Amino acid sequence: MTGMTNATNYHSHCSFCDGNAPMEEFVKAAIEAGFIAYGFSSHAPLPFSARWTLAREEMPAYLAEFERLKREYEGKIELYVGLEIDYLNEASNPASVYFQQLPLDFRIGSVHLVYAPDGEIVDTDTGAENFKRLVDANFHGDLKALVGAYFEASMRMLEKGGFDIIGHTNKVWYNAEQCETGVTDSAWYQAKLADLFALIAETGAMVEINTKYFHRNGSFFPNVKDWKYIKRWNLPIVVNSDVHFPELVNAGRSEALKLLKEAGFRTVRQLMGGKWQEVEIG
Ligand SMILES: [Zn+2]
Ligand SMILES: [Zn+2]
Repeated sequence: MTGMTNATNYHSHCSFCDGNAPMEEFVKAAIEAGFIAYGFSSHAPLPFSARWTLAREEMPAYLAEFERLKREYEGKIELYVGLEIDYLNEASNPASVYFQQLPLDFRIGSVHLVYAPDGEIVDTDTGAENFKRLVDANFHGDLKALVGAYFEASMRMLEKGGFDIIGHTNKVWYNAEQCETGVTDSAWYQAKLADLFALIAETGAMVEINTKYFHRNGSFFPNVKDWKYIKRWNLPIVVNSDVHFPELVNAGRSEALKLLKEAGFRTVRQLMGGKWQEVEIG
């Protein structure tokens, strides 16, 4: 197993949003797995109610339960609190005053939702079969239109800022490939990726290597093929499991770290002692 010096995770869900267990169960699992630092990042409230997000009226309870656990487990593990905040539109995104004023240790900016041409909000973070159905039903079968909307939202989120980590960059690649094999290698798609990573470099945001689906289908977000852009711009990297089940707190992380090392990356970023630090991959 890759060195315990990299035993950290800052992307995790719990029963305050769509996670499978209470916050404390994740803390216990993280300690069991030998983690030195662990961060919570429930899905932030949206302007409408959604079953997978933290409800806005639950925010005080989320922060209070975190404070209780931080005190309770002091000396055993460093705990941090954040949110995974959607870029939905110009009025609801990581830069929104409401999210900026919350007492958080870090913020993750993610795109899951895009607007279809008819104005409907479409969740791109779904199973491949449902994704195909959405392309047909909401985008007249035009995969490029959906992918284009995804990249546009990602670019806009970066322009607005207000977050530390960009969550699962290019997550749409997997479903796009299921729709049309080879599409992510096309010049069209690669140009979008190159622009996106160039903008990430400008903002200074950390790039997450999201390992959530590795145990299921061997995929990372961003895709291993995209890591050339991380290298091109020498972007700071955070390896996160985006965990929803306590038994998966560390899932895919050592595999990602090993691959990063093989690909010539030397360090990852870890929030420790209240500061983001560049740490050697063990
Ligand atoms: Zn996400
Ligand atoms: Zn997540």
